[in-house]
Amino acid sequence: MTHPAQPKASHFINGEYVEDTAGTPIPVIYAATGEQIATVHAATPAIVEQALSTAKAAQKEWAKMTGTERGRILRRAADIMRDRNHDLSVLETYDTGKPLQETLVADATSGADALEYFGGLAASLTGEHIPLGEDWVYTKREALGLCVGIGAWNYPTQIACWKGAPALACGNSMVFKPSETTPLCALKVAEILIEAGAPAGVFNVVQGMGEVGGALVTDPRVDKVSLTGSVPTGKKVYAAAAAGMKHVTMELGGKSPLIIFDDADIDNAVGGAINGNFYSSGQVCSNGTRVFVQKGIKEKFLARLAERTGNAILGDPMDEATSFGPMVTENQMNIVLGYIEKGKEEGARVICGGARADMDGYYIQPTVFADVTDEMTIAREEIFGPVMSVLDFDTEEEVVARANDTEFGLSAGVFTKDFTRAHRVIGNLEAGSCFINSYNDAPVEAPFGGVKASGVGRENSKEAIKHFSQVKSVYVRMGDVEAAF
Ligand code: NAD
Repeated sequence: MTHPAQPKASHFINGEYVEDTAGTPIPVIYAATGEQIATVHAATPAIVEQALSTAKAAQKEWAKMTGTERGRILRRAADIMRDRNHDLSVLETYDTGKPLQETLVADATSGADALEYFGGLAASLTGEHIPLGEDWVYTKREALGLCVGIGAWNYPTQIACWKGAPALACGNSMVFKPSETTPLCALKVAEILIEAGAPAGVFNVVQGMGEVGGALVTDPRVDKVSLTGSVPTGKKVYAAAAAGMKHVTMELGGKSPLIIFDDADIDNAVGGAINGNFYSSGQVCSNGTRVFVQKGIKEKFLARLAERTGNAILGDPMDEATSFGPMVTENQMNIVLGYIEKGKEEGARVICGGARADMDGYYIQPTVFADVTDEMTIAREEIFGPVMSVLDFDTEEEVVARANDTEFGLSAGVFTKDFTRAHRVIGNLEAGSCFINSYNDAPVEAPFGGVKASGVGRENSKEAIKHFSQVKSVYVRMGDVEAAF
């Protein structure tokens, strides 16, 4: 019997499901059991061509609609997503393995937020009038054209919406390629947009690995590429886009610092560290995986952290009591287990966890290392799993310098009751998305993105509009033209 997660076909192009079984089969594995629940096929060159030509053709008419009309469609799509939240959350759990307890509140719901927010902005995208005496200049905010979105596997619905909603609000069309690891959810986003009234072809989904992504990025018809992925992939995609002088948004990896001063409320700080390391089993780009704790509260912090981490409920992700799910794939589990071994070898102290969980599926125990030093591999490389490194520090100056000593710059957080210090420290940290007495909040109203190797551009908020549109300026002369000859 076909599993309910199996989509009707692999791709969604021009308003309908499309199949080409000549493409490489991609198995979809449910991370909680290791069972194959669906198969899709990577896009063949013919499918890539169909998606790009369809999106190119659909864009002009879409851009001609008023912002109010485009916005209404996006807001209708948001309502449909909210109405179907339960089913979409179950699918998200099949796609990623994340527990339903999370997917019910974090995935289709945040996708709907993006559709609603950018739907609301669509009608307000205007230019300026610049008077120059008698003459004047006016500006128009125009769509870029055909945009490509490429997703990572941790938030397949959210990533499709974070890219699709602002792109469509500005009058662009999009071809979206989900991660080959989680190909299911973006198809539902495409279906819902059509149901909400989007013209066929403005949002298309094609499946495939890096090769398909590469074919999309290098196509001369494509005006913009927005990638969510790792730094090495980001460097390749950015370079390929640069060759064609395309616009880019790069949402890449991190190794973010979370700094806890000794005046912080311990339980709030522990809560922040848990949210910043163990949500989605640690598979979150903005995670605060280097937790710097001021020496005076170190042991108290570690004791409370171990106690609360012990309350994590590992189990069937479809059981709403489960608060901690498996790694997305066996491969990702093995990568993370390798880092845990490295941490032990290099002398870090295991406070809790430190091994695979004794159950079916790709579960790793939530793991905390203490006595981590700046040179250790687990303090330098992005692990993308439930592995928290706790490092000690003495002074503010020292911790800021150590926190910034990384190629990454996605996020940073600080816990302290001293607000002057909080703002001063955040001001000195090299990171794009920061938190004071909190961690990992990502409301659509706030810009999200990194500095340094963690990326360029911003998603969400009004900032995203700037990255999916361009300004045309028009000089209007009211009098005669003077010329030298
Ligand atoms: P990845 O870099 O392996 O893949 C990301 C996407 O790029 C996939 O869809 C993949 O098929 C595609 N791709 C790979 N090579 C390509 C190429 N040459 N040309 C075009 N596309 C190509 O990342 P992943 O393992 O799927 O996700 C984990 C990474 O994503 C982590 O580093 C994480 O930090 C990052 N991430 C960042 C954010 C953010 O918003 N900053 C959010 C989630 C995940």
